[in-house]
Amino acid sequence: MNGPGGDAGVTAAGPAAAGGTVSTGAHDVLMVVDVQADFCPGGALGVEGGFDVVPVINGLTSKFGRWVYTRDWHPHDHVSFSADPEFRDGSWPPHAVQGTPGAAWCAGLEMPMNAILISKGDDPALEEYSGFPKQRLDLAEFLRLRKVERVFIAGLTADYCVKNTALDACKAGFTVFVVEDAVRGVAPDTTARAYAEMRAAGVTIIRSEQIADSGNRPAAAYDEHGHPVHHDD
Ligand SMILES: [Zn+2]
Repeated sequence: MNGPGGDAGVTAAGPAAAGGTVSTGAHDVLMVVDVQADFCPGGALGVEGGFDVVPVINGLTSKFGRWVYTRDWHPHDHVSFSADPEFRDGSWPPHAVQGTPGAAWCAGLEMPMNAILISKGDDPALEEYSGFPKQRLDLAEFLRLRKVERVFIAGLTADYCVKNTALDACKAGFTVFVVEDAVRGVAPDTTARAYAEMRAAGVTIIRSEQIADSGNRPAAAYDEHGHPVHHDD
C-alpha cells in the first residue's frame, strides 16, 4: 500500500523498493533513534560508523514536517548493565546514564525546534529498546491523532533499538521505512538478522537518496490568534 505522499514505484513490500523514490509529505514522521554519544565511536557502547549517520540524518530533517527523537536515558543501576559485559542483550556496559556526557546527543546532530523528544529505559528494572515505550505516553496514538501514516526510521542501533522501534511501528499499523545509510549496528550477524526480521514484518529498507520531498506539510494546529484549527481531513 502506498501512502498519500505520491510514492513513485515504492511499495511496502520491501525488495520492490530498490531504486525507487518515495516522496515525504504531511502524513510522515522521521524517527531518529538514540543518536547519542555513548553509541558513537569512543562511547561506552560505540558502534562502528556511528558518527556517519549524523550528516545523513541532518540532511533528512528538512524533508519532514514531524520529527521524533528518542534517547536511551538510563539510571545508574539499570537492569541491562553488567560489570563484565558481553555486549549482547541483557549484558551491556553502563551507557546513556542520565545527565552524563555519554547520554548527550552526538556532536553535530541537528534537531528541529519542535521535534518530539522521547526518553526511554529510565525504569531501573525495565529494558526498553523501542522508541514506542510502553509507559506514560502512547506515541502511536499520539501520531495517529496527528494523521501520521508512515514512519521513517534512522539512528542507532540497527540490531536493537532501531529494529524494535520499526517492529513496534509495524504492529501499530504504520507503513514503515528504515533508512539504511542513516543506521549502524552493533555487530554484523545481529544486524543482518535484524534487517531480515524487519523485512519479514513488512518494513521497507531504503536509502536516504531515495527520499524526495513533496513539499506537503502537516496543517497548522493553531491559527495566528492561538486558537485551535479544526480540519476535516
Ligand atoms: Zn540501553
